[in-house]
Amino acid sequence: MPATSQPAFVLDEPSFAEAAAKAAGNFVLPLLIVCGSFLLASYAPDLPDFFGVLKIYAPYVTLGLGLLIALAFKRGRALFAVLSLLIAYTCFRMFFANSLPEEFVSKTIYAAVCLLVPLNLAFLASVHERGALNAYGAGRLAALLIAAGITAAVIYGGFSKVTELLYRPLLADFAMSGSPIPQSAILAMVASLIAAVGIAVARGGVIDAALAVSIAAFAAACNSVATADMFMWFTTAGLIVTVAVLQDSHRMAFRDELTGLPGRRALNESLMSLNRSYTIAMLDVDHFKAFNDRWGHDVGDQVLRLVASRIQRVGGGGKAYRYGGEEFIVVFPGKRLLEVLSRLDALRKNIEGYKLHIRSSKRPRDANANGNGAKSPADGQVNEWIFVTVSAGVAERTDRLLKAEEVIQSADQALYRAKEAGRNRVSR
Ligand code: GH3
Ligand code: MG
Ligand code: MG
Repeated sequence: MPATSQPAFVLDEPSFAEAAAKAAGNFVLPLLIVCGSFLLASYAPDLPDFFGVLKIYAPYVTLGLGLLIALAFKRGRALFAVLSLLIAYTCFRMFFANSLPEEFVSKTIYAAVCLLVPLNLAFLASVHERGALNAYGAGRLAALLIAAGITAAVIYGGFSKVTELLYRPLLADFAMSGSPIPQSAILAMVASLIAAVGIAVARGGVIDAALAVSIAAFAAACNSVATADMFMWFTTAGLIVTVAVLQDSHRMAFRDELTGLPGRRALNESLMSLNRSYTIAMLDVDHFKAFNDRWGHDVGDQVLRLVASRIQRVGGGGKAYRYGGEEFIVVFPGKRLLEVLSRLDALRKNIEGYKLHIRSSKRPRDANANGNGAKSPADGQVNEWIFVTVSAGVAERTDRLLKAEEVIQSADQALYRAKEAGRNRVSR
C-alpha cells in the first residue's frame, strides 16, 4: 500500500492569539515607514524648490529600484505589486499632477486606478509566491494588461455610464465624502485591506504584511492626488514592498525555515564577535527519532517549532540557534556557566511541563508508512496528552577552551553525559 502524505496524527495548532502575536512583528517596519512618511508629508509642501525634482522622480526611483530588487530576488508578488504602483503613479503624473480629475477621461482613469490597484495588491497577498519570470508571472502581467484594456475600452467606447456608476455615492453622508476617491473604490480599498491584513496574520510572512500596509499607503496616495503629498505616498508604498523583499531574503539566508530561529550561518557569524567570557549550551530533544516514528514527521516538525519557541525565550541574554535536526544552541555572551545553569534547568522543566494534545487526523496513514513497521492505533482512537523532554550540555570559555568551536565541542560532550545519565537533564 503506498504511503499517503497525510499525517496519521495531528497536534493542536498554536492558538490564533499566538500566531497573531508572531505575525504582528512583521507589521512593525512597514508601519514605521508609514509613520515616517506621515511626519515628512507635513513638511512636503514647505520643501524648497530644490526638491522639486524629488517630488516628481522619487516614486519612479523607489518603484524602479523595487522592480529590480524583486526581480533579482525572484519575488513575483512584490514585483507585480510594485509594477501596478508604478503604472498608477505614471497615470497620476500624466493626468493629475496639478489638477483633480474632472472630465470623463481623467475621472475614468482615476477611478480605475483607485479601484483596481488595491484589488491587485490584495490578490497578490492571497496567492502563493511563484517567482517572477514564468507562466505565473505572465498570468499576473496579463491581469494588469486586461485591467488597463478594460479601462481603455470604457474611455474609447465613451461608456460614461460605467464611470458614473463608479462615482455614484454609496452612502450619502459618508465620513470620507470629502475625499476625491469614489466611494466604490473606497469600498474596494477597505475590503482589500481587511482581506490582506487577515492573510498576513494567518500566513505570517513579511511580504504579506508589506502588501497589506502598501494598500493603506496607496489609499493615502489616491487621497492626496494632485497635492504635494502624492509623491510621498507612492514612494512610501514602493519602499514598504522593497524593504520587505530585502527583509524576506535576509531571513531566508539566516533563519531556519521550520522554526524561525537563526540558523547555522547566523551562529557562525555571531561566534566571531564573542569576546573573552561567554557560555554555550547545546540542547537536544530526547528520543526524537522514536517520537517521529510514533507520531509522524509532521507532528515532529510541529514539536520542533514549539521547543524552538521555548528555547528562544530562555532569557538571561541567551541567543538561540537551530544547530541542525533536533539540536539547538544557546549562546550567552558575557555570562559564566554558573550564571546560566539554573536558567537552563528552568527551560528544561518548562519544556517537560508543556503538554501536547495529539489526536488522530481524519485520514489514517498507512500503518507501515513510518518506516519502522510500528502499528499505529486505529483512526479515531487517539486523543492523548504527551510531552517531550530535552537534554542539555553546557560549557564556558576558559583558558583551556579558547576557541568557540572548542567550547561547542565541550558542550556537546556534556550533552552526551546528560544523555548517558538518563536524559531530561542539564550537564556541565
Ligand atoms: P537521543 O535522545 O539520544 O537524542 O535520541 P534521538 O532519537 O533524539 O536522536 P537521533 O539523533 O538518533 O535522532 C534524531 C532524529 O531527529 C532523527 C530524525 O528523525 C529527527 N529529525 C531531525 N531533524 C528533523 C526535522 O527537521 N523534523 C523532524 N520531524 N524530525 C527531525
Ligand atoms: Mg541529535
Ligand atoms: Mg535527540
